[in-house]
Amino acid sequence: MTNTAHDILILGAGPSGLSTALHLAQHYRHLTSRILILEKAHHPRPKLCAGGLVLDVEVILERLGLDVCEVPHVDVERTHFDFAGKGLSLRNPIRQTLRVIRRNEFDAWLMKKAQSRGIEIRQGITVKNILPNSDSVTVETDAGTFCAQIVVGADGSNGITRRCVLPDAPVHTARVLEVLTPTYPPKPPPPSAPPPNTIPKSELTVDVPISYLGEAGRGLDAYFDFFPVPANIAGYVWDFPTQVNGEPMRCWGVYDTNLLANEKRPQLRDPLAAEMARRGFKLDEYEIKGHPIRWYDPSNPIAVPRVLLVGDAAGADPVFGEGISIALGYGAIAAREIGESIRRDDFSFSGYKRRFARSGLGQTLFVRWLITQVLYTFKWRWFQIFLWRMLKPVVGIAGWLFVLNWSKRIH
Ligand SMILES: Cc1cc2nc3c(=O)[nH]c(=O)nc-3n(C[C@H](O)[C@H](O)[C@H](O)COP(=O)(O)OP(=O)(O)OC[C@H]3O[C@@H](n4cnc5c(N)ncnc54)[C@H](O)[C@@H]3O)c2cc1C
Repeated sequence: MTNTAHDILILGAGPSGLSTALHLAQHYRHLTSRILILEKAHHPRPKLCAGGLVLDVEVILERLGLDVCEVPHVDVERTHFDFAGKGLSLRNPIRQTLRVIRRNEFDAWLMKKAQSRGIEIRQGITVKNILPNSDSVTVETDAGTFCAQIVVGADGSNGITRRCVLPDAPVHTARVLEVLTPTYPPKPPPPSAPPPNTIPKSELTVDVPISYLGEAGRGLDAYFDFFPVPANIAGYVWDFPTQVNGEPMRCWGVYDTNLLANEKRPQLRDPLAAEMARRGFKLDEYEIKGHPIRWYDPSNPIAVPRVLLVGDAAGADPVFGEGISIALGYGAIAAREIGESIRRDDFSFSGYKRRFARSGLGQTLFVRWLITQVLYTFKWRWFQIFLWRMLKPVVGIAGWLFVLNWSKRIH
């Protein structure tokens, strides 16, 4: 059976797919009934993610008339960018530096908002194949075949759209592990306890021993620590406050761009175990989960005729793997591209990559890609110390100007 009632098919109801639909409904209201989102899961579905929202998320959602405060959240007062326990600390005197949500709650909330604006979403349908041709796109699913004028691949880092339409394009994928723990460790570690990892001390040495329990204010602070870089893990360890079903928790994780994959590296879990041990937690006592993040490279294609990629399918931020604001931003740009393509009756999307690169989002992703090349390949300990501890003001201002606040000049 072929379904042909909708001519804009969005594959995936995560932030990028829902944002594309919400922006289409806002700016091209007449297209709303022509949009269909296909989602393989049922919301609220689990999604491995630390749920850290930067301010750009709020700016984009506010413009859509949405208030993210409706979603259960924890506000981070101060965010630290450290090397081995010391470094730059950022605080916004007016609002939080980061807002932390759980993705099952956030995505289900966003889906309800889209539905309330008349967007049709069919859940429990898995896309199996995407076949673009000159006058339409055929989408094969486990619930029949769909035919559309335009398809938006919003199916995430493991999605099928990119594999079907750009099978030979290079991909850059980060490895990420995540763990949830209570706010405090079961009991403080004995002072002389050895770190529970097998990495030689010289590789993952942390200068500042901290008793988690003794540190006032850590509860609402978020930490990024780049100490794994000299050990060839091109990323950082994070520790965020969060909540699960209203219960305060901590979310920990380790991110590795894989830029130093050709070098000898410890296991990815080792720096996470070392950092948690420093705070009195034993990694082995918690469930550890992993998921890749596909990151943006300016040379990568992000469209073929009749098919656009958005969100992780196109590429997230390479520095941090920050992808929620980015996914929402992709949605705004893709909606405009689709609206214009329908007006012009031209579905080649030949200029999408160029227009994307010129947008505020494209520019911040380009800058972040450049930063990634420097931050993670200049991997020496002295360089990381110089950057995070001595160049503090420069790093803070550059981050504010070139990394954040892009959503105000999104197009
Ligand atoms: C461990 C971890 C921690 C992270 N922490 C943060 C963070 O703190 N802050 C931040 O900003 N970003 C974070 N990210 C990145 C962020 O999660 C992603 O960038 C973001 O989810 C991208 O949104 P998306 O809509 O493109 O894809 P997704 O959120 O992955 O949504 C894709 C949707 O498509 C559906 N789908 C997939 N395949 C199919 C198919 N074949 N058929 C139908 N539907 C399909 C999926 O079920 C899913 O609902 C983290 C990622 C990981 C892995």
